Amino acid sequence: MKMYDIIYRKREGEKLTKDDLEYFVKGYSDGTIADYQASAFLMACFIKGLDSEETKHLTVAMTHSGDVIDLSGIDGIIVDKHSTGGVSDSTTLVVAPLITACGLKLAKMSGRGLGHTGGTLDKLESIPNLSVKQSMDEFINQVNNIGLSVMGQTMKLVPADKKMYSLRDVTATVDSIPLIASSIMSKKLASGADIIILDVKTGNGAFMKSVEQAKKLARTMVDIGKLAGKKTVALVTDMNQPLGQSVGNSMEVMEAIEILKGERDGDLKTVAFEIAENLLVLGDIVKTKDEAKVMLQNVIDDKSALKKFKQLIKAQGGNEDIVDNFDLFKKPKFVYEYKAKKSGYLKSINTEEVGKASCTLGAGRFKKEDEIDMSVGIWVNKRIGDKISVDETLFTIYSNDEEKTKSILSCLQDSIKISDKKPKPTTLIYDIIR
Ligand code: URA
Repeated sequence: MKMYDIIYRKREGEKLTKDDLEYFVKGYSDGTIADYQASAFLMACFIKGLDSEETKHLTVAMTHSGDVIDLSGIDGIIVDKHSTGGVSDSTTLVVAPLITACGLKLAKMSGRGLGHTGGTLDKLESIPNLSVKQSMDEFINQVNNIGLSVMGQTMKLVPADKKMYSLRDVTATVDSIPLIASSIMSKKLASGADIIILDVKTGNGAFMKSVEQAKKLARTMVDIGKLAGKKTVALVTDMNQPLGQSVGNSMEVMEAIEILKGERDGDLKTVAFEIAENLLVLGDIVKTKDEAKVMLQNVIDDKSALKKFKQLIKAQGGNEDIVDNFDLFKKPKFVYEYKAKKSGYLKSINTEEVGKASCTLGAGRFKKEDEIDMSVGIWVNKRIGDKISVDETLFTIYSNDEEKTKSILSCLQDSIKISDKKPKPTTLIYDIIR
Protein backbone atom coordinates (compact mmCIF):
# COMPACT_ATOMS: atom_id res chain seq x y z
CA MET A 1 0.00 0.00 0.00
CA LYS A 2 2.92 2.35 0.65
CA MET A 3 3.51 3.35 -3.01
CA TYR A 4 -0.23 3.87 -3.49
CA ASP A 5 -0.21 6.14 -0.47
CA ILE A 6 2.80 8.16 -1.76
CA ILE A 7 1.13 8.64 -5.17
CA TYR A 8 -2.14 9.62 -3.46
CA ARG A 9 -0.47 12.22 -1.20
CA LYS A 10 1.46 13.79 -4.09
CA ARG A 11 -1.69 13.81 -6.21
CA GLU A 12 -3.37 15.80 -3.42
CA GLY A 13 -0.43 18.25 -3.44
CA GLU A 14 1.06 17.15 -0.12
CA LYS A 15 4.74 17.45 0.65
CA LEU A 16 6.62 14.13 0.55
CA THR A 17 9.22 13.11 3.13
CA LYS A 18 12.82 11.98 2.62
CA ASP A 19 11.64 8.48 3.50
CA ASP A 20 8.88 8.56 0.81
CA LEU A 21 11.32 9.62 -1.90
CA GLU A 22 13.97 7.09 -0.85
CA TYR A 23 11.28 4.40 -0.83
CA PHE A 24 10.25 5.23 -4.39
CA VAL A 25 13.82 5.42 -5.77
CA LYS A 26 14.89 2.16 -4.11
CA GLY A 27 11.73 0.29 -5.05
CA TYR A 28 11.71 1.47 -8.66
CA SER A 29 15.42 0.70 -9.07
CA ASP A 30 15.16 -2.84 -7.71
CA GLY A 31 11.96 -3.59 -9.63
CA THR A 32 9.61 -3.97 -6.64
CA ILE A 33 7.69 -0.88 -7.80
CA ALA A 34 6.17 -1.42 -11.25
CA ASP A 35 6.22 0.95 -14.20
CA TYR A 36 2.49 1.74 -13.86
CA GLN A 37 2.90 3.05 -10.32
CA ALA A 38 6.13 4.88 -11.18
CA SER A 39 4.34 6.51 -14.16
CA ALA A 40 1.49 7.70 -11.96
CA PHE A 41 3.97 8.97 -9.38
CA LEU A 42 6.05 10.90 -11.94
CA MET A 43 2.91 12.43 -13.44
CA ALA A 44 1.76 13.51 -9.94
CA CYS A 45 5.22 15.10 -9.40
CA PHE A 46 5.00 16.74 -12.83
CA ILE A 47 1.57 18.27 -12.11
CA LYS A 48 1.91 19.16 -8.41
CA GLY A 49 5.65 19.88 -8.42
CA LEU A 50 8.31 19.17 -5.80
CA ASP A 51 9.65 21.89 -3.51
CA SER A 52 13.38 22.45 -3.01
CA GLU A 53 13.59 20.08 -0.04
CA GLU A 54 11.75 17.29 -1.88
CA THR A 55 13.94 17.86 -4.98
CA LYS A 56 17.07 17.60 -2.82
CA HIS A 57 15.85 14.35 -1.17
CA LEU A 58 14.95 12.86 -4.57
CA THR A 59 18.36 13.84 -6.00
CA VAL A 60 20.32 12.38 -3.09
CA ALA A 61 18.31 9.13 -3.19
CA MET A 62 18.95 8.86 -6.97
CA THR A 63 22.68 9.63 -6.52
CA HIS A 64 23.03 6.66 -4.16
CA SER A 65 21.05 4.26 -6.36
CA GLY A 66 24.37 3.06 -7.88
CA ASP A 67 28.10 3.74 -7.77
CA VAL A 68 29.34 7.05 -6.43
CA ILE A 69 32.69 7.66 -8.14
CA ASP A 70 35.66 8.15 -5.84
CA LEU A 71 38.05 10.61 -7.49
CA SER A 72 40.30 10.96 -4.44
CA GLY A 73 43.05 9.21 -6.42
CA ILE A 74 43.34 12.32 -8.61
CA ASP A 75 45.64 15.13 -7.46
CA GLY A 76 44.38 18.67 -7.95
CA ILE A 77 41.07 20.40 -8.42
CA ILE A 78 38.62 18.33 -10.43
CA VAL A 79 35.88 19.97 -12.42
CA ASP A 80 32.86 18.70 -14.30
CA LYS A 81 30.75 20.47 -16.90
CA HIS A 82 27.26 19.78 -18.13
CA SER A 83 25.13 21.28 -20.86
CA THR A 84 21.39 20.68 -20.86
CA GLY A 85 21.72 20.03 -24.59
CA GLY A 86 21.63 22.02 -27.78
CA VAL A 87 22.50 22.14 -31.46
CA SER A 88 26.11 22.77 -32.52
CA ASP A 89 26.99 22.96 -28.84
CA SER A 90 30.58 21.71 -28.85
CA THR A 91 31.66 23.77 -25.84
CA THR A 92 33.09 20.72 -24.03
CA LEU A 93 35.53 20.13 -26.90
CA VAL A 94 36.82 23.69 -26.50
CA VAL A 95 36.57 24.10 -22.70
CA ALA A 96 38.25 20.79 -21.80
CA PRO A 97 41.66 21.54 -23.40
CA LEU A 98 41.51 25.22 -22.40
CA ILE A 99 41.01 24.72 -18.66
CA THR A 100 43.34 21.75 -18.38
CA ALA A 101 46.07 23.71 -20.17
CA CYS A 102 45.55 26.28 -17.36
CA GLY A 103 46.05 23.70 -14.58
CA LEU A 104 42.58 22.35 -13.70
CA LYS A 105 41.66 18.66 -14.01
CA LEU A 106 38.60 17.54 -15.95
CA ALA A 107 37.13 14.12 -15.23
CA LYS A 108 34.07 14.00 -17.42
CA MET A 109 31.47 11.37 -18.09
CA SER A 110 29.60 12.49 -21.17
CA GLY A 111 26.44 11.48 -22.98
CA ARG A 112 25.41 10.68 -26.51
CA GLY A 113 23.14 12.74 -28.72
CA LEU A 114 19.56 12.90 -27.44
CA GLY A 115 16.73 13.76 -29.83
CA HIS A 116 17.76 16.68 -32.04
CA THR A 117 20.71 17.57 -29.76
CA GLY A 118 24.28 16.33 -30.27
CA GLY A 119 26.43 14.50 -27.72
CA THR A 120 30.14 14.82 -26.87
CA LEU A 121 30.77 11.06 -27.04
CA ASP A 122 29.46 10.81 -30.60
CA LYS A 123 31.52 13.83 -31.66
CA LEU A 124 34.73 12.43 -30.15
CA GLU A 125 34.12 9.07 -31.80
CA SER A 126 34.27 10.77 -35.20
CA ILE A 127 38.04 10.94 -34.61
CA PRO A 128 39.53 7.80 -36.19
CA ASN A 129 40.12 5.03 -33.60
CA LEU A 130 39.28 7.17 -30.55
CA SER A 131 37.53 5.20 -27.81
CA VAL A 132 35.36 6.56 -25.01
CA LYS A 133 35.29 3.20 -23.23
CA GLN A 134 37.56 3.14 -20.20
CA SER A 135 37.78 1.30 -16.91
CA MET A 136 37.61 3.48 -13.82
CA ASP A 137 41.35 2.93 -13.20
CA GLU A 138 42.20 3.98 -16.78
CA PHE A 139 39.96 7.04 -16.40
CA ILE A 140 41.67 8.13 -13.16
CA ASN A 141 45.19 7.39 -14.46
CA GLN A 142 44.55 9.42 -17.61
CA VAL A 143 43.34 12.44 -15.60
CA ASN A 144 46.44 12.16 -13.40
CA ASN A 145 48.74 11.84 -16.44
CA ILE A 146 47.40 14.46 -18.84
CA GLY A 147 44.77 16.38 -16.83
CA LEU A 148 41.65 15.23 -18.64
CA SER A 149 39.56 12.31 -19.70
CA VAL A 150 36.14 11.98 -21.33
CA MET A 151 34.40 8.64 -21.04
CA GLY A 152 30.90 7.23 -21.42
CA GLN A 153 28.77 7.01 -18.33
CA THR A 154 29.05 3.59 -16.66
CA MET A 155 25.89 1.51 -16.43
CA LYS A 156 26.27 1.56 -12.66
CA LEU A 157 26.10 5.38 -12.40
CA VAL A 158 22.64 6.44 -11.15
CA PRO A 159 20.71 3.41 -12.47
CA ALA A 160 17.53 4.99 -11.02
CA ASP A 161 17.87 7.82 -13.55
CA LYS A 162 18.23 5.42 -16.47
CA LYS A 163 14.90 3.78 -15.62
CA MET A 164 13.16 7.01 -14.66
CA TYR A 165 14.39 8.88 -17.74
CA SER A 166 13.19 6.13 -20.13
CA LEU A 167 9.81 6.16 -18.44
CA ARG A 168 9.57 9.97 -18.46
CA ASP A 169 10.41 9.94 -22.15
CA VAL A 170 7.26 7.94 -22.96
CA THR A 171 4.88 9.39 -20.33
CA ALA A 172 5.16 13.12 -21.19
CA THR A 173 6.96 13.90 -17.94
CA VAL A 174 10.37 15.07 -19.22
CA ASP A 175 9.98 18.84 -19.06
CA SER A 176 9.51 19.21 -15.31
CA ILE A 177 12.06 21.40 -13.53
CA PRO A 178 12.43 19.26 -10.36
CA LEU A 179 12.61 16.04 -12.41
CA ILE A 180 15.22 17.45 -14.83
CA ALA A 181 17.20 18.98 -11.95
CA SER A 182 17.29 15.72 -9.98
CA SER A 183 18.14 13.73 -13.11
CA ILE A 184 21.10 15.94 -14.05
CA MET A 185 22.37 16.69 -10.55
CA SER A 186 22.22 13.06 -9.34
CA LYS A 187 24.61 12.17 -12.20
CA LYS A 188 26.87 15.15 -11.44
CA LEU A 189 27.01 14.36 -7.70
CA ALA A 190 27.69 10.67 -8.37
CA SER A 191 30.53 11.63 -10.74
CA GLY A 192 32.57 12.99 -7.84
CA ALA A 193 34.04 16.34 -9.08
CA ASP A 194 34.78 19.24 -6.70
CA ILE A 195 33.42 21.95 -9.00
CA ILE A 196 30.37 21.72 -11.26
CA ILE A 197 29.54 24.15 -14.04
CA LEU A 198 26.18 23.91 -15.76
CA ASP A 199 25.22 25.45 -19.09
CA VAL A 200 21.44 25.71 -19.16
CA LYS A 201 20.30 26.30 -22.71
CA THR A 202 17.15 28.23 -23.53
CA GLY A 203 15.33 28.87 -26.77
CA ASN A 204 13.77 27.04 -29.69
CA GLY A 205 16.57 24.43 -29.83
CA ALA A 206 16.55 23.66 -26.09
CA PHE A 207 14.41 21.73 -23.62
CA MET A 208 13.74 24.98 -21.76
CA LYS A 209 11.94 27.22 -24.23
CA SER A 210 11.69 30.31 -22.00
CA VAL A 211 14.47 32.23 -20.24
CA GLU A 212 12.42 32.31 -17.01
CA GLN A 213 12.09 28.50 -16.97
CA ALA A 214 15.79 28.11 -17.73
CA LYS A 215 16.73 30.45 -14.86
CA LYS A 216 14.47 28.50 -12.50
CA LEU A 217 16.10 25.20 -13.55
CA ALA A 218 19.56 26.76 -13.16
CA ARG A 219 18.73 28.04 -9.65
CA THR A 220 17.30 24.66 -8.60
CA MET A 221 20.43 22.81 -9.79
CA VAL A 222 22.88 25.30 -8.25
CA ASP A 223 21.08 25.05 -4.89
CA ILE A 224 21.28 21.24 -4.99
CA GLY A 225 25.00 21.35 -5.85
CA LYS A 226 25.74 23.76 -3.01
CA LEU A 227 23.72 21.73 -0.50
CA ALA A 228 25.89 18.76 -1.48
CA GLY A 229 29.01 20.82 -0.71
CA LYS A 230 30.12 21.37 -4.32
CA LYS A 231 31.09 24.71 -5.82
CA THR A 232 28.36 25.05 -8.45
CA VAL A 233 27.63 27.75 -11.02
CA ALA A 234 25.13 27.76 -13.89
CA LEU A 235 25.10 29.89 -17.02
CA VAL A 236 21.85 30.48 -18.86
CA THR A 237 22.71 30.72 -22.56
CA ASP A 238 20.93 31.13 -25.84
CA MET A 239 19.83 28.28 -28.11
CA ASN A 240 17.67 30.22 -30.56
CA GLN A 241 20.19 29.39 -33.28
CA PRO A 242 22.91 26.73 -33.52
CA LEU A 243 25.74 27.85 -31.21
CA GLY A 244 28.50 27.19 -33.70
CA GLN A 245 28.13 26.94 -37.45
CA SER A 246 28.47 23.18 -37.87
CA VAL A 247 25.76 20.67 -36.98
CA GLY A 248 27.28 17.20 -37.31
CA ASN A 249 29.92 15.16 -35.55
CA SER A 250 33.29 15.45 -37.33
CA MET A 251 32.33 18.94 -38.54
CA GLU A 252 31.88 20.07 -34.93
CA VAL A 253 35.24 18.60 -33.94
CA MET A 254 36.93 20.53 -36.78
CA GLU A 255 35.19 23.75 -35.73
CA ALA A 256 36.36 23.28 -32.13
CA ILE A 257 39.93 22.63 -33.31
CA GLU A 258 39.87 25.84 -35.35
CA ILE A 259 38.92 27.75 -32.18
CA LEU A 260 41.77 26.08 -30.28
CA LYS A 261 44.13 27.06 -33.11
CA GLY A 262 43.01 30.68 -32.72
CA GLU A 263 41.58 30.69 -36.24
CA ARG A 264 37.91 31.15 -35.39
CA ASP A 265 35.84 33.52 -33.22
CA GLY A 266 32.06 33.60 -32.71
CA ASP A 267 29.35 32.59 -30.25
CA LEU A 268 30.74 29.09 -29.62
CA LYS A 269 34.07 30.56 -28.54
CA THR A 270 32.34 33.26 -26.46
CA VAL A 271 30.28 30.72 -24.48
CA ALA A 272 33.27 28.36 -24.13
CA PHE A 273 35.37 31.26 -22.77
CA GLU A 274 32.60 32.29 -20.33
CA ILE A 275 32.44 28.72 -18.99
CA ALA A 276 36.23 28.42 -18.80
CA GLU A 277 36.64 31.85 -17.12
CA ASN A 278 34.15 30.90 -14.40
CA LEU A 279 35.93 27.59 -13.85
CA LEU A 280 39.37 29.20 -13.51
CA VAL A 281 37.97 31.57 -10.86
CA LEU A 282 36.05 28.81 -9.03
CA GLY A 283 39.18 26.63 -9.08
CA ASP A 284 41.30 29.48 -7.60
CA ILE A 285 43.65 29.46 -10.59
CA VAL A 286 43.04 33.22 -10.98
CA LYS A 287 41.22 35.90 -8.95
CA THR A 288 39.10 37.53 -11.65
CA LYS A 289 37.41 36.66 -14.92
CA ASP A 290 39.51 39.32 -16.66
CA GLU A 291 42.69 37.53 -15.58
CA ALA A 292 41.12 34.27 -16.71
CA LYS A 293 40.36 35.67 -20.17
CA VAL A 294 44.02 36.68 -20.63
CA MET A 295 45.23 33.28 -19.46
CA LEU A 296 42.84 31.46 -21.82
CA GLN A 297 43.91 33.52 -24.82
CA ASN A 298 47.56 32.78 -23.87
CA VAL A 299 47.02 29.01 -23.95
CA ILE A 300 45.48 29.39 -27.39
CA ASP A 301 48.32 31.62 -28.63
CA ASP A 302 51.12 29.41 -27.27
CA LYS A 303 49.32 26.28 -28.63
CA SER A 304 49.23 24.56 -25.23
CA ALA A 305 45.42 24.12 -25.41
CA LEU A 306 45.78 22.51 -28.84
CA LYS A 307 48.50 20.25 -27.42
CA LYS A 308 46.09 19.18 -24.64
CA PHE A 309 43.51 18.23 -27.25
CA LYS A 310 46.11 16.14 -29.08
CA GLN A 311 47.08 14.48 -25.79
CA LEU A 312 43.44 13.62 -25.13
CA ILE A 313 43.05 12.07 -28.59
CA LYS A 314 46.26 10.06 -28.26
CA ALA A 315 45.54 8.87 -24.71
CA GLN A 316 42.17 7.53 -25.88
CA GLY A 317 43.63 5.66 -28.85
CA GLY A 318 42.74 8.20 -31.55
CA ASN A 319 44.79 9.53 -34.42
CA GLU A 320 46.10 12.91 -33.19
CA ASP A 321 47.29 13.82 -36.71
CA ILE A 322 43.70 14.81 -37.56
CA VAL A 323 44.32 18.06 -35.66
CA ASP A 324 46.72 19.19 -38.40
CA ASN A 325 45.16 17.26 -41.27
CA PHE A 326 41.36 17.35 -41.54
CA ASP A 327 41.55 15.08 -44.63
CA LEU A 328 42.01 12.20 -42.19
CA PHE A 329 38.33 12.52 -41.19
CA LYS A 330 35.88 10.39 -43.18
CA LYS A 331 34.57 12.57 -46.00
CA PRO A 332 30.95 12.84 -47.23
CA LYS A 333 30.17 12.13 -50.89
CA PHE A 334 27.99 15.15 -51.69
CA VAL A 335 28.07 18.85 -50.89
CA TYR A 336 24.88 20.81 -51.63
CA GLU A 337 24.41 24.53 -51.16
CA TYR A 338 20.96 25.63 -50.09
CA LYS A 339 20.40 29.19 -51.38
CA ALA A 340 18.19 32.04 -50.22
CA LYS A 341 15.03 32.56 -52.25
CA LYS A 342 14.73 36.23 -51.25
CA SER A 343 16.84 39.05 -49.89
CA GLY A 344 16.55 40.65 -46.45
CA TYR A 345 17.81 39.93 -42.95
CA LEU A 346 17.87 36.58 -41.21
CA LYS A 347 15.15 37.07 -38.56
CA SER A 348 14.97 33.60 -36.95
CA ILE A 349 16.03 29.97 -37.26
CA ASN A 350 14.06 27.03 -35.91
CA THR A 351 17.07 25.42 -34.26
CA GLU A 352 15.34 22.16 -33.38
CA GLU A 353 14.38 21.66 -37.05
CA VAL A 354 18.00 22.22 -38.17
CA GLY A 355 19.11 19.66 -35.55
CA LYS A 356 16.51 17.18 -36.82
CA ALA A 357 17.52 17.80 -40.44
CA SER A 358 21.11 16.93 -39.54
CA CYS A 359 19.86 13.76 -37.78
CA THR A 360 17.96 12.86 -40.97
CA LEU A 361 21.24 13.02 -42.90
CA GLY A 362 22.57 10.48 -40.39
CA ALA A 363 24.37 12.71 -37.86
CA GLY A 364 22.03 11.66 -35.02
CA ARG A 365 19.75 8.85 -33.98
CA PHE A 366 15.97 8.52 -34.20
CA LYS A 367 16.13 5.12 -32.49
CA LYS A 368 18.63 4.01 -29.86
CA GLU A 369 20.16 1.41 -32.15
CA ASP A 370 20.62 3.75 -35.17
CA GLU A 371 24.21 4.01 -36.37
CA ILE A 372 25.65 7.49 -36.79
CA ASP A 373 27.31 8.71 -39.98
CA MET A 374 30.16 10.80 -38.59
CA SER A 375 30.91 12.62 -41.84
CA VAL A 376 27.54 14.25 -42.54
CA GLY A 377 25.97 17.44 -41.29
CA ILE A 378 24.92 20.98 -42.03
CA TRP A 379 27.03 24.12 -42.09
CA VAL A 380 24.90 27.11 -41.08
CA ASN A 381 26.30 29.92 -43.23
CA LYS A 382 24.32 32.80 -41.72
CA ARG A 383 23.50 34.05 -38.23
CA ILE A 384 20.45 35.91 -37.00
CA GLY A 385 20.71 39.58 -38.04
CA ASP A 386 22.94 38.86 -41.06
CA LYS A 387 22.08 40.53 -44.35
CA ILE A 388 21.13 38.06 -47.07
CA SER A 389 21.00 38.49 -50.83
CA VAL A 390 18.91 36.32 -53.06
CA ASP A 391 20.84 33.18 -54.13
CA GLU A 392 23.32 33.48 -51.28
CA THR A 393 24.09 30.17 -49.52
CA LEU A 394 22.15 29.76 -46.24
CA PHE A 395 23.08 26.16 -45.45
CA THR A 396 25.78 23.88 -46.85
CA ILE A 397 24.66 20.26 -46.66
CA TYR A 398 27.28 17.49 -46.36
CA SER A 399 25.68 14.16 -47.15
CA ASN A 400 26.17 10.58 -48.32
CA ASP A 401 22.66 10.13 -49.65
CA GLU A 402 20.94 12.26 -52.29
CA GLU A 403 17.46 11.15 -51.22
CA LYS A 404 18.11 12.20 -47.64
CA THR A 405 19.48 15.53 -48.87
CA LYS A 406 16.31 16.18 -50.88
CA SER A 407 14.13 15.17 -47.94
CA ILE A 408 15.48 17.92 -45.67
CA LEU A 409 15.25 20.85 -48.11
CA SER A 410 11.67 21.85 -47.28
CA CYS A 411 12.43 21.50 -43.59
CA LEU A 412 15.41 23.87 -43.91
CA GLN A 413 13.28 26.25 -45.97
CA ASP A 414 10.61 26.29 -43.22
CA SER A 415 13.21 26.67 -40.48
CA ILE A 416 14.21 30.20 -41.44
CA LYS A 417 12.42 33.54 -41.57
CA ILE A 418 13.80 36.41 -43.61
CA SER A 419 12.51 39.92 -42.92
CA ASP A 420 12.96 43.28 -44.59
CA LYS A 421 13.84 44.98 -41.32
CA LYS A 422 17.06 44.22 -39.42
CA PRO A 423 16.03 42.29 -36.28
CA LYS A 424 17.07 43.36 -32.76
CA PRO A 425 20.45 41.96 -31.66
CA THR A 426 20.17 38.61 -29.87
CA THR A 427 21.36 37.91 -26.32
CA LEU A 428 23.92 35.14 -25.93
CA ILE A 429 24.40 34.90 -22.15
CA TYR A 430 21.23 35.69 -20.18
CA ASP A 431 22.45 35.09 -16.65
CA ILE A 432 25.04 33.52 -14.39
CA ILE A 433 23.49 31.84 -11.34
CA ARG A 434 25.76 31.37 -8.35
N1 URA B 1 19.11 15.71 -19.42
C1 URA B 1 19.11 14.83 -18.39
O1 URA B 1 20.14 14.24 -18.08
N2 URA B 1 17.98 14.63 -17.72
C2 URA B 1 16.82 15.26 -18.00
O2 URA B 1 15.83 15.03 -17.33
C3 URA B 1 16.81 16.16 -19.08
C4 URA B 1 17.98 16.38 -19.78
